[in-house]
Amino acid sequence: MKEKLLEVNNLVKHFTSGSQAVKAVDGLTFDIYRGETLGLVGESGCGKSTTGRLTLRLLEPTAGSIRYRGEDVLGFSSGQMKKIRRDMQIIFQDPYSSLDPRKSIGEIIMRPMVVHGVGNNRRERFERVTHLMEKVGLDPRWYHRYPHELDGGRRQRVGIARALALNPTYIVCDEPVSALDVSVQAQVINLMQDLQEEYHLTYLFISHDLSVVKHVSNRIAVMYLGEIVELAASDELFQNPQHPYTKALLSAVPVPSLDNRRERVILQGDVPSPKNPPSGCRFHTRCPFAVENCRTEAPRLQETEQDHHVACHLIAK
Ligand code: SF4
Repeated sequence: MKEKLLEVNNLVKHFTSGSQAVKAVDGLTFDIYRGETLGLVGESGCGKSTTGRLTLRLLEPTAGSIRYRGEDVLGFSSGQMKKIRRDMQIIFQDPYSSLDPRKSIGEIIMRPMVVHGVGNNRRERFERVTHLMEKVGLDPRWYHRYPHELDGGRRQRVGIARALALNPTYIVCDEPVSALDVSVQAQVINLMQDLQEEYHLTYLFISHDLSVVKHVSNRIAVMYLGEIVELAASDELFQNPQHPYTKALLSAVPVPSLDNRRERVILQGDVPSPKNPPSGCRFHTRCPFAVENCRTEAPRLQETEQDHHVACHLIAK
């Protein structure tokens, strides 16, 4: 039986902007199982990164619950949070801005160990840092080098080594390859997959790029304007997409064979503002299949086939 590592229930995050609330995340419910990669995909601004940070409690939710290893982390004190943070890490999109330019690579990777008191002395920590550098494909002789001396791929390897420093279980990967050249993306993704297998890591993999998400994920959740509109196993989502938004996203993914090519669906209009999302189904202003009740009634995310969840009136059971 699969072990639930993270259980998110009705998670909401509204930011205040002047007199208005920005509804960044609005009622997300999903689980992440131990050892899997859950891909989180959607257009820029749909709330993916906010969701990742909420699961780590780097942001405080407006409402909802988050259970990690069965415990209600929103009820944790700062001392309890510090303890559990060792187990939950993040890899950022831009490896350059996420690394302190004044610190050497070795110091950057060692920093979480110092903060959390891991290792009995500097010698032990040094040995762990050089071990991690080897694991992520960095020459340990670069310990004293600085981030500006490395290319983007190597900088991201530093970010990965830092995330592994405390031997975590759960890692939020927030667009970890989108700032890298395509040739380097594959290397970094392969490295992350190897490390996942070796250390039994669980990933929440956030990306706007469905082909990258498909490659790495066991399951995929598709987000639109702060809500999950479809959630299914990766192969199932690609072979049997049900939500009109997922179909539109998939139609833009290049496929190698002409036989498998999908008809391109061009969505009309821009993504509405999360300050004032559309009533009813948030996708109705761009959906080619919208009917009258789509404008007034919000569809619930429900299981339409085994382990396949969709929020759409036309597909509801
Ligand atoms: Fe389109 Fe209506 Fe389904 Fe929303 S509920 S995706 S508007 S058909």
